[in-house]
Amino acid sequence: MKNKEFYTSIEDKNVTVLGAERSGLGAAKLLQKLGAIPFVSDMADEEKIADRVAELQSLGIAYECGGHTSRVHDAEFIICSPGVPSDALPLIQAAEKGIPVIGEIEFASFFCKGTIIGITGTNGKSTTTALIHHLLNTAGLYSVAAGNIGRAFSEVALEIPEDGFVSLEISSFQLDHIQLFKPHVGIILNITPDHLNRYSQNIELYAQAKFNLFKNFTAENLLILNYDNSFLGSDKINATGMVHYFSLHEQLKTGIAKFGDEIIASIDGKETFRCNVSDIYIRGEHNHANAMAAIAAVLPYIKKAEDIKRGLLSFTGIEHRLELVREIDGVQYINDSKATNVDSVWYALRTFSTPIFLILGGIDKGNDYGQIKDLVLEKVVKIYA
Ligand code: ADP
Repeated sequence: MKNKEFYTSIEDKNVTVLGAERSGLGAAKLLQKLGAIPFVSDMADEEKIADRVAELQSLGIAYECGGHTSRVHDAEFIICSPGVPSDALPLIQAAEKGIPVIGEIEFASFFCKGTIIGITGTNGKSTTTALIHHLLNTAGLYSVAAGNIGRAFSEVALEIPEDGFVSLEISSFQLDHIQLFKPHVGIILNITPDHLNRYSQNIELYAQAKFNLFKNFTAENLLILNYDNSFLGSDKINATGMVHYFSLHEQLKTGIAKFGDEIIASIDGKETFRCNVSDIYIRGEHNHANAMAAIAAVLPYIKKAEDIKRGLLSFTGIEHRLELVREIDGVQYINDSKATNVDSVWYALRTFSTPIFLILGGIDKGNDYGQIKDLVLEKVVKIYA
């Protein structure tokens, strides 16, 4: 394994970026700023990615599309975008040739001076990332939301000052290649079946990819985990550094938990923060869990509880996640089109007490729909499939 020096002393060196989507483009631009010589290679046809090709052309960055040629391997190392599966041919060939491969967020992290809060999990990543960013901003701290949400980490890494923060949404694909990545704070919100097609239908492999988040943690790092999740609950995880749990159901002495209508954070039974669920604008139990994880992440940095409460109340959520579109003649229209797995639909159905007309569709990723059967029978009037 190469060290950080290898990936950061790159002036005049050839570096290939696999994948020309947002993060690949960000990586290429960062390389260019750092004086390296980027080459971008993408499988997609030129017409399909015309806007990105135009940007590469305007920046004078070399690229190829419609397939990968041998030029991919004419590089010191390869930066891999999350869209590229780990068994893609150029990656297999890179391994054979001994060319190191690094993920885009890991590469970007080497150039970020600020505090990195990394958020992963099956569901709730975008919401929690946006909430953490909002809490930090509301408290007057410099913060950007990046990664899967907002801008690519590579695009913003150099802008973040030493006393600033990046709230970084990380998918499990982005954790696939982790070697040295070490965020200051890591959150795993939950692990439920999703994207198993990329992990040979094996949820253990999918979970393992998420555990890469804290692979390089040392004593000063903080890991925040969901106590209620069967993959993450106490004793399941062996991590170095501090571990704080959050729970909707277990009244934790150390961690943050829901006690009736209150949310209380404590360390060894000593209270460090308290609010009421009515202080949280976003609805639903799952969002209380997201809020608890967010509070746990910012507590070391935001000294005044009032600042956190102001942020919780003024964060109205993000679009397409249980978003109230409007109310007409007493009927609320809710857009939850980001509910792309059964677990998120389960939480959505639990959130409402009024009769539900449910519009369902999308691609089956091999999930078990039996999980929502009881809630559908209890609450749903009609399904539009
Ligand atoms: P992600 O970025 O992980 O896809 P989002 O915040 O975009 O998560 O939310 C995706 C869907 O999951 C939405 O339908 C949302 O209501 C639901 N959701 C949000 N948080 C959770 C959670 N903690 N557990 C289950 N579902 C959730």
